[in-house]
Amino acid sequence: MSFSIGKILGVKIRIHFSWFLIFALITWTLAAFYLPTQFPGLSVEVYWILGAISALLLFVSVLIHELAHSYVAIKRGLPVPSITLFLFGGVSELSSEPADPKTEASMSVVGPLTSFAISGISAIAWYAVVIFDFGTVVQAPLFYIALINLLLGGFNLLPAFPLDGGRLLRAGIWQWKKDLIPATKLATRISTVFAYGIVGFGFFIVLFGDFIGGLWLIFIGWFLKSGADQSLRQTIVMQALSDVNVRDIMTKDVIAIPPEKTLSEAVTEYFGTYKHGGFPVVQEDRIVGIITIDDLKKVAEQDRLYRRVEEIMTPRKKLIFLKPDESAVDAFIKFSRNDIGRLPVLEEERLVGIVTRSDVFRVIRIKAQGEI
Ligand SMILES: [Zn+2]
Repeated sequence: MSFSIGKILGVKIRIHFSWFLIFALITWTLAAFYLPTQFPGLSVEVYWILGAISALLLFVSVLIHELAHSYVAIKRGLPVPSITLFLFGGVSELSSEPADPKTEASMSVVGPLTSFAISGISAIAWYAVVIFDFGTVVQAPLFYIALINLLLGGFNLLPAFPLDGGRLLRAGIWQWKKDLIPATKLATRISTVFAYGIVGFGFFIVLFGDFIGGLWLIFIGWFLKSGADQSLRQTIVMQALSDVNVRDIMTKDVIAIPPEKTLSEAVTEYFGTYKHGGFPVVQEDRIVGIITIDDLKKVAEQDRLYRRVEEIMTPRKKLIFLKPDESAVDAFIKFSRNDIGRLPVLEEERLVGIVTRSDVFRVIRIKAQGEI
């Protein structure tokens, strides 16, 4: 649901598709309502151009806000693989949860502080433009950026998980309870009540006149509710897997298929005998690919007699590997990013095991029982 636009600070920047809709909506709101009321006397075309520029500047502001989070996270030793940007913010994908409440607090607070700083600088620039009378065309976007970053900082400080304010709240509870999971649960519960409150208030506003304003609130409330649910699930999963290594969950006695076997042989000697959904293909102790039941199904029955495993397998260069000492969290992340069923485990180029999706989910089920 998102695509990549490049890398900053080593973090992949992704844009969620819904962002285009929001961009259009914001440009329209600005060009048709906000700008003509605040800065009258310009032509319709200019309002639309200024609307689009302001919406883009909002995007840049959100990006800087998220990068501030990433910067502190990386400094504190938490790698950030990617940021996905959508409405009012983004989600910085963390490869693990912060190790202690203080890290969480400093990571969270830097975002709103950055937004307030951008707001302050833009306000000063706007004031200078007003004094030296550079004209409305320069004034309008600067004023908007000052205002929107003030709102952005304020909005993100709302005590609703996974907003920064919610994370600060969780850090506080975490410090008090000394345990991440109960803290996340309590913070999520508070956030959910808060989110429903916003949705309810939105309906109230829709009923009593301001349709668009109300709709925005309903949308924001719903966004917060689903964000809170997702964060809770993610925290529970990460926690369940955090002290488990790939070595602990991998299957060690790997059954491998030689690449020169015909597909018929693969069916009778391997898929039919061991009932696995896929097998690594190994030649002289070296993994050269993986063949799955789905690969087999693509080949017509009569062709399986002469076609070979190496012709239809996923070749090595397209495989994703694990190391035995890697955390099970890494395996989970690799599975959730790629639509694959099994990951081979390599130790110095040697195939030492295989981890399936269900191996990871079994650990989550057992360790997080009753928590999801
Ligand atoms: Zn933030």
